[in-house]
Amino acid sequence: MGGKLTSIYETLLAHYGEPNWWPAETPYEVMVGAVLTQNTAWGNVEKAIANFGGKLSPEAVLSSDLADLTELIRPAGFFNQKALYLKSATEWFGKYGFDVQTVRSEPLSKIRAELLSTKGVGRETADSILLYAFGFPTFVVDAYTNRLCGRYPIEAGIGYEAVKAYFEGNLERSAEVYNNFHALIVINAKEYCRKKPLCDGCPLAETCGRHCL
Ligand code: SF4
Repeated sequence: MGGKLTSIYETLLAHYGEPNWWPAETPYEVMVGAVLTQNTAWGNVEKAIANFGGKLSPEAVLSSDLADLTELIRPAGFFNQKALYLKSATEWFGKYGFDVQTVRSEPLSKIRAELLSTKGVGRETADSILLYAFGFPTFVVDAYTNRLCGRYPIEAGIGYEAVKAYFEGNLERSAEVYNNFHALIVINAKEYCRKKPLCDGCPLAETCGRHCL
C-alpha cells in the first residue's frame, strides 16, 4: 500500500532498523508493563518489575495480598490504584486460563471490548496489550503519534479512535507493521520530535512540513 503513512514508516524503518519492542520476557510481563507505565517513565516500571525477583506471574499477582502487591509496584507511582488495576487485568486474563493462544483465538473486537471494560485499562493500554502481548493487529495511538500528526502534518482526524482508524486504514493490516511503526514514532519523538523539535538530523526532515517552515 502506497501513500504518506507508508512512506513515513519506511523512512523511519530504514533509519532506525527493526525496533524489537516491547522490552519484556513474557506476554504477561507486557500486560503488567502496559498497566504500570501509565503516567510514569519506563525506568520506574522496570524497577517495579524487578521487585518481583523473577517471579512475576499471573498466579503470583492474583494470590498476593493487595498490600504486598502495592509495595512491590511502589516505584511505578499511583501504586494503590495500579495494584487494583493489575489485579483486574490479571483476573481478566484468568478467564482464558492465562493462555496466550486461547486469547489469540478470540475475535479482536471481543477482546478489545473486554479489556476496555477492565478497571484502569484505557484505549492506549488496551491496544498496547492487544498488540504487544497478544499480537493482534491494532494500532496504538499515543501523545507522540498525535504530535507527529500535528507537525508533519498527517490528516488523521481528532480523537483516539479516529487517529487509530486512519492509521489502520492507510497501512497494510499487519501486527508487525503496527508494532514497528508505533515503536518508531516513539523513538523518533524521543530523538528529534521532542516538545521542542530538533528538526535538523530528523529522518523525516525532507518531507515534514514543519521542518520547511
Ligand atoms: S522534521 Fe521536525 S517536526 Fe518534523 S518529524 Fe522531524 S523533528 Fe518532528
